[in-house]
Amino acid sequence: MEEARKQELAKQFIDITSEECVEIDADMAQYTSFRAGGKADILVSPADYEGLKASLKLAAASGERYYILGNGTNVLVRDGGYRGIIIRTMDALQEIAIVDEEELVIAQAGALLSKVARSAAQHMLSGLEPVSGVPGSIGGAAFMNAGAYDGEMKDVITDVRLISRDGEREYTLSVDEMDYGYRHSVLYETGDIVVSVMMKLKMDDPHKIFDRMNELAERRNSKQPVDKPSAGSFFKRPTGYFAGKLIQDAGLKGLTVGGAQVSPLHSGFIVNIGGATATDITDLMKLVQARVKAEFGVDMEPEVRIIGEPAE
Ligand SMILES: Cc1cc2nc3c(=O)[nH]c(=O)nc-3n(C[C@H](O)[C@H](O)[C@H](O)COP(=O)(O)OP(=O)(O)OC[C@H]3O[C@@H](n4cnc5c(N)ncnc54)[C@H](O)[C@@H]3O)c2cc1C
Repeated sequence: MEEARKQELAKQFIDITSEECVEIDADMAQYTSFRAGGKADILVSPADYEGLKASLKLAAASGERYYILGNGTNVLVRDGGYRGIIIRTMDALQEIAIVDEEELVIAQAGALLSKVARSAAQHMLSGLEPVSGVPGSIGGAAFMNAGAYDGEMKDVITDVRLISRDGEREYTLSVDEMDYGYRHSVLYETGDIVVSVMMKLKMDDPHKIFDRMNELAERRNSKQPVDKPSAGSFFKRPTGYFAGKLIQDAGLKGLTVGGAQVSPLHSGFIVNIGGATATDITDLMKLVQARVKAEFGVDMEPEVRIIGEPAE
């Protein structure tokens, strides 16, 4: 985006939100868990739902490209940056409501999954333990049907409240209408935005719930490189295989390009071992894809959403 256009558009976003909510040339490494990547022309982090709605309307009317970001734990912005507007949900949508007698949890999209799982456990509600260690937001998790340890978001979701991409229409889809599959929902096609999610859980002894959460956290911490910046498992599970095993069997464990490395602890993870660029990460991704294809004839598709322009 040209400088004058950026300034003009940023001013319009400030008018409908506030000065603190809008950043020009935002360093997306700060907002994504890879801690790598380029700048976004404009980053808007509305402080409330009305601000989010108005920002979507303005972004749609501007004719510029725009993207929705949650906690940034499954997104990589290429080094050339994102030409357009990124709208981040994390400040606007934080509420968590629990209806104990109906075993329901209603969480807004910006609430962290870990926080929602803990709140549910405090209310003796079980069901979110498997995904309690996923570091994303409820919105990101409902978008992609996040899953771990034999549990997926679709197992607990009953309804999802949405707003259309242009901010004009609010509506609700049932879990069936969300068309959930492995790392898939209807939102991959519509591009609409999760506002809140209703989940039906089950009453259980809170000690047991916390014990299960702690046990899974220990498993995660011992088997995954949680001390290094990453976006979790980099690749989707190819049908009939495990991505990490294919990569390991191809002899790629520890393979390094610049600051990006196939984790020696878990080959399914690409980690930033210090100063990785997004190009290091995508070059390593391509190398892994080519070697696994050559060795086993299997295509590996990234689970991580890669956006923006390549470095010039
Ligand atoms: C250490 C680590 C471990 C991980 N372990 C797991 C795991 O076990 N299982 C798993 O499934 N994932 C895992 N992940 C990946 C990631 O945490 C999940 O995919 C999570 O659901 C992403 O949520 P987010 O808020 O960070 O989304 P983002 O990364 O911000 O966005 C991801 C996608 O969701 C879309 N999105 C975000 N918010 C909304 C919204 N409100 N409405 C519509 N679309 C939205 C974005 O446009 C983008 O396409 C891991 C990541 C890390 C870093």
